[in-house]
Amino acid sequence: MAGGGGNAIRGSRVGAGPMGEAERGEAAPRQSVTYFCSHEHRSVVTFSVEATVPESWDCPRCGLPASLDSENPPPAPKIEPYKTHLAYVKERRSDAEAKDILNEAIATLRARRKSGDVVF
Ligand SMILES: [Zn+2]
Repeated sequence: MAGGGGNAIRGSRVGAGPMGEAERGEAAPRQSVTYFCSHEHRSVVTFSVEATVPESWDCPRCGLPASLDSENPPPAPKIEPYKTHLAYVKERRSDAEAKDILNEAIATLRARRKSGDVVF
């Protein structure tokens, strides 16, 4: 009697056919989205239909942000403030270094005067 049960299980395994074979041959549906950057570049990016299309995309030609709106592309990010800031930091640093050098020179001069051993 136990053998009969085994046959039933084997039969169910064979009967389970391959799943999803009908979907295999079809490519996933896609959509082409055009982005516009402030340099008037048109970049066509292909997304899956299921994907969420982002509102902005980096232009592959110039790297600037591009948007879906051809009449209102995102403005190019300004780099000048960063440069100015960097120059400001550099100025401050060199200024501080100059003060340190000056203080060091004064300290050395005073130390020599106190000791009295070295006379210039
Ligand atoms: Zn561009």
